[in-house]
Amino acid sequence: MSSRPRVIVAGAGPVGLTAALILARGGVDVTMLERRAELNRMSKASTFHPPTLEILADFGLLDVLTSQGQLVPKIQYRERGKGVLAEFFLAELAAETRCPFRIHLEQAAVMPLLLEKLQTFPNARVLFEANVVAAAQSATGVAITTEGPRGREVSEGDYLLVADGARSTTRDLLGIGFEGETYEERVLRVFTRMDLDEVLPGIAPLTYLYVGNKSLSFLKMPDLWRMVLRAPAHISNEEAVSPGYFMTRLKDYFAEDTDKLRDVWADVFEVGKRVASTYLQGRAIVMGDAAHISTTRGGMNMNCGVHDAYALAHALLATFQSGDDKVLQACAAERRRVAREELLRRTDTAASTGAEWLAFATKCAGDRDLRLKFLRSATMLDMRPVVNPSLAA
Ligand SMILES: Cc1cc2nc3c(=O)[nH]c(=O)nc-3n(C[C@H](O)[C@H](O)[C@H](O)COP(=O)(O)OP(=O)(O)OC[C@H]3O[C@@H](n4cnc5c(N)ncnc54)[C@H](O)[C@@H]3O)c2cc1C
Repeated sequence: MSSRPRVIVAGAGPVGLTAALILARGGVDVTMLERRAELNRMSKASTFHPPTLEILADFGLLDVLTSQGQLVPKIQYRERGKGVLAEFFLAELAAETRCPFRIHLEQAAVMPLLLEKLQTFPNARVLFEANVVAAAQSATGVAITTEGPRGREVSEGDYLLVADGARSTTRDLLGIGFEGETYEERVLRVFTRMDLDEVLPGIAPLTYLYVGNKSLSFLKMPDLWRMVLRAPAHISNEEAVSPGYFMTRLKDYFAEDTDKLRDVWADVFEVGKRVASTYLQGRAIVMGDAAHISTTRGGMNMNCGVHDAYALAHALLATFQSGDDKVLQACAAERRRVAREELLRRTDTAASTGAEWLAFATKCAGDRDLRLKFLRSATMLDMRPVVNPSLAA
């Protein structure tokens, strides 16, 4: 039998896969349990911020990400009728990161790359169709029961990583709370394959267009554009995704130019803000959407989850090395603080919409120090994951 430490990872999303890869690379026997028959292919998060790209670069994935994804070198702010008011160039951060850019790419395109890397490690096992239905822990280990076509199976390990998403069964089985609220407004994404430069000449791959207190976000993907709006509570999902509704909403931003928009469709989904009551319960470590959810504004939630995975997996490796979980405890507390005090504050809708925010961005763009601070915040560089908070400056 192997004398290596053993870790069970519940959930093969971007967060579980990142943590599993770091642990497998660190010599840990990893068993990954995933309810689905294959990785989730849904269109979800699309933004990879510099600190996340640094983590993925460390796995040797930067070349493939830059060749498959849409490079985002700047952030543009516009106001209807006035044109471009402010631009922020990420290259100004070159002294602070090896990745002074964002990449827009579906998370579903990145997960298979992580899985492929993980499967190169003989000490990593990935079990699909393994639905976690029971979780038990003692002072010395964890035992996780799954159900699936192979029947009921029990996987044992030294630690459990809870990375099975916002509706985490594992978190609930362990009795860990997930306090917070669901926003009344849902996220309405409108997609088009046309070149938006025809309608808004000079549009940048990440653009915010303001009309009074309202704003519309534009994200250029490798094969299409996403435009992100909010659907108010009184509008049903069916109505929100109907062209009659969303084209009227877009008219506020484009005016008569909406007539030029072709090949347009939409989807809508609920968002909330919640944080788990603890990130470390005995030998269970909570991360990613199982630990926090936030709005899509700024594209930070998945990135923050990948940062959880990076910091907590390294802290767990330190625990295995030293036999002492002090660093892990401090790291778990720090990641929870980051979710509550940084992630939720930055992504809360009110904090980053409205004419006041546009005025703030415009002021920052004109002053080097303010501009760099703004850029660090928008790219999450000022909330880079820290493995040992007591050593952080
Ligand atoms: C429509 C949509 C759009 C989004 N857009 C953005 C965005 O623009 N920017 C952003 O930052 N974030 C966005 N998000 C959120 C982002 O997708 C998540 O933050 C990210 O997926 C979190 O990764 P994760 O690995 O923690 O969880 P998940 O990706 O949810 O992965 C969890 C995995 O656990 C598995 N699982 C669940 N239950 C069990 C069980 N009982 N047993 C075993 N396995 C289980 C699931 O099948 C899944 O594979 C969006 C989400 C949605 C739904």
